[in-house]
Amino acid sequence: MKHKVIIIGGGSAGLACALQLKRYNIDSLIIEKDQLGGLMRNANKIENYLGFPDGISGTELQDKFILQIKNNNIKIKLDEVIKLQHENNEFILTTPLKIYKCKIVVIASGTKPKKITEVNIEKEIAHKVFYEVFELRNVENKNIAIIGAGDAAFDYALTLSERNQVHIFNRGEKEKCLPLLYNKASSEKNIHYHKRKILKSLSKKQGRLSLIFDEQKKIDEHISDYIIFAAGRKPEIDFFSGINKNKIDNLVKNKKLFMIGDVKNGITRQIAIATGDGIKAAMEMVPGVGCC
Ligand SMILES: Cc1cc2nc3c(=O)[nH]c(=O)nc-3n(C[C@H](O)[C@H](O)[C@H](O)COP(=O)(O)OP(=O)(O)OC[C@H]3O[C@@H](n4cnc5c(N)ncnc54)[C@H](O)[C@@H]3O)c2cc1C
Repeated sequence: MKHKVIIIGGGSAGLACALQLKRYNIDSLIIEKDQLGGLMRNANKIENYLGFPDGISGTELQDKFILQIKNNNIKIKLDEVIKLQHENNEFILTTPLKIYKCKIVVIASGTKPKKITEVNIEKEIAHKVFYEVFELRNVENKNIAIIGAGDAAFDYALTLSERNQVHIFNRGEKEKCLPLLYNKASSEKNIHYHKRKILKSLSKKQGRLSLIFDEQKKIDEHISDYIIFAAGRKPEIDFFSGINKNKIDNLVKNKKLFMIGDVKNGITRQIAIATGDGIKAAMEMVPGVGCC
């Protein structure tokens, strides 16, 4: 199937790009492997996206983005790009379902969580182990452990503490989150923050999870119902190994290939930046466009 522009990923960056292309009457196809809106659905309260003076939850903002996309009849395909190639002046995108071809590709695939390697996760407990908060949003009266000490760890804790007991375990001494999140979490009675706790093992115990920490040579056990690893994220580019570096540079220079949003933004990963990237990429695709 041939399209002019294909956008890989329907998060903030990809959606903004498709919307801006629509303004130039350019139809694009978004291929999204999971759910439109992307990572923002995990955010407890977004307070730095203009237009929402009281802040807005990640899921509410996601719903608004999706509605705007639907109102603009933007084409969406639920599918996963597993390979991206470029041959004879066109891109070939392979998914488990079919092959797509196009002249221009926008990579807006965001990030994926860094998987934990220090502890072994047996198959029988895998369903209690998470890397994002979204799937646990509706649980209540549980004890949930979060491993990490950055923004995501504290943000997840705030979401879950409304109806659960939450324990954050930091392997180090100092938290690495925004002071705003730390202060909010500190005033929540259901959030318990532990420093200098290095997880040594994770196993099943009477239908729950047993977390063993090594604390200054003494063994320390914590029992939990679920565990979330929030130990950082890295670019989601596994499908992107079939094109060599020189060719990529040329495709980018010639405005055939665009990378937008978290996938290329390093530590400056924010919704406003991702949407800005999306709009900018769309404008750069259209010759002669400078302003509206
Ligand atoms: C807990 C938390 C709180 C946050 N709070 C804020 C906040 O308050 N303010 C703020 O500005 N930002 C916040 N963020 C960051 C914000 O969510 C991201 O910056 C934003 O979602 C990035 O958008 P994106 O489109 O670049 O990537 P993503 O949102 O990650 O979207 C990428 C999309 O691509 C899809 N995809 C990936 N690979 C493929 C493939 N091979 N084929 C098809 N589809 C694919 C994914 O399924 C995903 O939907 C927060 C993030 C987290 C985790």
